Amino acid sequence: ERRDGDQPEFLQAVREVFESLEPVVAKHPEYERNGVLERFVEPERVVKFRIAWTDDEGRVQVNRGYRVQFNSAIGPYKGGLRFHPTVNESVIKFLGFEQILKNSLTGLPMGGGKGGSDFDPKGRSDGEVMRFCQAFMTELQRHIGQFTDVPAGDINVGAREIGYLFGQYKRIRDEYSGVLTGKGLEFGGSLARTEATGYGLCYYTQEALRVLRNDSFQGKTVVVSGSGNVAIFAIEKAQRLGAKVVTCSDSNGYVYDPKGIDLDVVKDIKLGHRGRIKEYAERVPGSEYHEGCRDVWTVPCDIALPCATQNEIDGESARTLVDNGCTVVCEGANMPSTPEAIAVYQGAKLLYGPAKAANAGGVAVSGLEMSQNSYRLSWTFDEVDAKLKQIMEDIVANSLDAAKEYGREGDLMLGANAAGFVKVANAMVAQGIF
Ligand code: NDP
Repeated sequence: ERRDGDQPEFLQAVREVFESLEPVVAKHPEYERNGVLERFVEPERVVKFRIAWTDDEGRVQVNRGYRVQFNSAIGPYKGGLRFHPTVNESVIKFLGFEQILKNSLTGLPMGGGKGGSDFDPKGRSDGEVMRFCQAFMTELQRHIGQFTDVPAGDINVGAREIGYLFGQYKRIRDEYSGVLTGKGLEFGGSLARTEATGYGLCYYTQEALRVLRNDSFQGKTVVVSGSGNVAIFAIEKAQRLGAKVVTCSDSNGYVYDPKGIDLDVVKDIKLGHRGRIKEYAERVPGSEYHEGCRDVWTVPCDIALPCATQNEIDGESARTLVDNGCTVVCEGANMPSTPEAIAVYQGAKLLYGPAKAANAGGVAVSGLEMSQNSYRLSWTFDEVDAKLKQIMEDIVANSLDAAKEYGREGDLMLGANAAGFVKVANAMVAQGIF
């Protein structure tokens, strides 16, 4: 707090993790002797840089870029790049911090990192996005590499942006390597990476429902927020598992479709022409559009899957969800629930799947993309999907084992924090103090 008092999102993420790690630290005095917690919250490196580029009118635009290389105890730094006007050091540090534990939970050898820029791609032409990505990579390339730091996508960084970033890295370094994940299939990308976070979220939720409640998605009403990469494939998998998904949203508002969201229409709007979700109600009779994305949580449901952004469910929204009969919240977005919302879930004994476990499927398949790049071969969709499903089921099992070990049976949040932390902490102790 003394050093980072001006970084509210980062402090929020650290507090949540450290509170639940108390029983873990009490059981491991060597962590205290080795200063593990103090070292754990200080990134190994933070890079902050200028990105200058030229817009379509020939004007010079300047943005700020970040890469936080947080922890490399168990593998090269790994984590996405976010392009959004709300990006600042606090947001990137909270994401990088969560990423350490998430990557550890996947069981794959990846450290934690995150990056991005305050660049807003909304309304920008393809050429502008390309020139921005090239300018961004011109600086970033000196800090990353296939054995040191392997970025991926996040909000507003999808296949198009990864393609431009990869092209610029290759051009400058004259090197063809798996330095980014989420690449196009023609140049080293993995099948099922696009679907991985959303599908993984549903595999996790389905498994937690099975183990803890002997239940499933079948016949459930589901509320999803967002309509980006994570939301679209969460809706797809939830529907295939027998649920009725009745909402999706963007930053302007949400749509409610009592018959169940027609995903082809959403894909056409969002993936087809980067349109606004409002269009859905104009195209699908019987559906409604509501201005203001936060009210999506007033729609009654059995299961809520927040898939848009941080702090999108506050205490009041959480209470509304519970009052309307919701008994499951699993997080596709990173830190979508405020601390007050989490307290409401705990009070109401919801099945709560925290982001770092529930949305780890994206980075897990990124890890599998790195493996395929190293082998110089590609697995089939079904092979990758089966590995993803297994990883998500293992995350549920490992979280529940850890929760039991520390005396909080069934607590998926404590379990995820503890299971993710212990592996990294042990590696930090073994590697000596630095
Ligand atoms: P996209 O850019 O594809 O989609 C983001 C969606 O969330 C859009 O519908 C967007 O609406 C909405 N959104 C973004 N910011 C806000 C905001 N401030 N308020 C309300 N709505 C907002 O991103 P992703 O789907 O990739 O990411 C969504 C979440 O999932 C993020 O928290 C991300 O960190 C997390 N995540 C993503 C992974 C991945 O593999 N992509 C992996 C793990 C986590 P609009 O178009 O109006 O901006």
